[in-house]
Amino acid sequence: TVHSLPGESLAPRRKSRRIMVGPVPVGGGAPVSVQSMTTTLTADVNATLQQIAQLTASGCQIVRVAVPSQDDVEALPAIAKKSQIPVIADIHFQPKYVFAAIDAGCAAVRVNPGNIRQFDDKVGEIARAAGDAGVPIRIGVNAGSLDKRLLQKYGKATPEALVESALWECSLFEEHGFRDIKISVKHNDPVVMIQAYRQLAQACDYPLHLGVTEAGPAFQGTIKSSVAFGALLAEGIGDTIRVSLSAPPVEEVKVGTAILESLGLRERGLEIVSCPSCGRAQVDVYTLAEQVTSALEGFPAPLRVAVMGCVVNGPGEAREADLGVASGNGKGQIFVKGEVIKTVPESQIVETLVEEALRLADQMGVD
Ligand code: SF4
Repeated sequence: TVHSLPGESLAPRRKSRRIMVGPVPVGGGAPVSVQSMTTTLTADVNATLQQIAQLTASGCQIVRVAVPSQDDVEALPAIAKKSQIPVIADIHFQPKYVFAAIDAGCAAVRVNPGNIRQFDDKVGEIARAAGDAGVPIRIGVNAGSLDKRLLQKYGKATPEALVESALWECSLFEEHGFRDIKISVKHNDPVVMIQAYRQLAQACDYPLHLGVTEAGPAFQGTIKSSVAFGALLAEGIGDTIRVSLSAPPVEEVKVGTAILESLGLRERGLEIVSCPSCGRAQVDVYTLAEQVTSALEGFPAPLRVAVMGCVVNGPGEAREADLGVASGNGKGQIFVKGEVIKTVPESQIVETLVEEALRLADQMGVD
């Protein structure tokens, strides 16, 4: 097939140290992983585990849970034990929660330098506990909660301020010999975010967690994250990603996965290639593309399926598809690897494509 495979990315990956988030390697040439964050009350163990199961099913590889209270801390052991994917505890103010999260079996802990000033005298203890347990720390700098000292120095959350905050916090851990760290420097403006990550990529070899914070509702957030992650990943920067959307977290995972697939950083799954339609179209391409997309949702084989609006240009334009349809005169020409194999009435196009997709998957040895 002509699909891009992992490794055919646009630039060599930046060389970063490798950390292990539970069994998932991050950095050091490991595949870029997709993360998300639960929206349930962490203290509600069942609801949280249920959401984690949904995230896992959608391809999420690492999940973060917020730990704002003692009730949440108490839920961590059950969540860490039963989650199918590694759990990162997100902790802002309380050093004692960091120790509890490590004891609970969380795979990593995220701390925020803007809020960690009160942690300063505890960093040694945190470094020791995390080091003993083999638990990495994410230094998560956020434009919205930047250290006041840096806010005064730079006037606002500039890329330089975000990077200085992250590196300063790393240095506190490094003083204690702890380097099991990954970093994020999130901003809601992709331009600032891209500059910050570029600078950070130059300044250290820690693995980087990419994120655009408060990216917005699904459409805007998808665009912002795709553009920002795309720019950085195309330069080889980024070891793990989290798309933030004001939408259910499963959507974040779908977008994150699609970004990696687009850049050839992950083997593509099923891909629908549909034409934009034009004056030559002899079928409602939008509706047909949606019907084909939903009929093949979750299809296990990495097929490229084309939906083309006319028989004149369709098959030629979709030459690289494994399978497809070109419509004309109320009928659909079904083609496989560029050859028309049959013509069916419009009402049978979707079912015929599904049958042929199953046949191709069978030939490929995919169940
Ligand atoms: Fe237009 Fe046909 Fe091309 Fe679709 S396949 S854009 S209908 S020429």
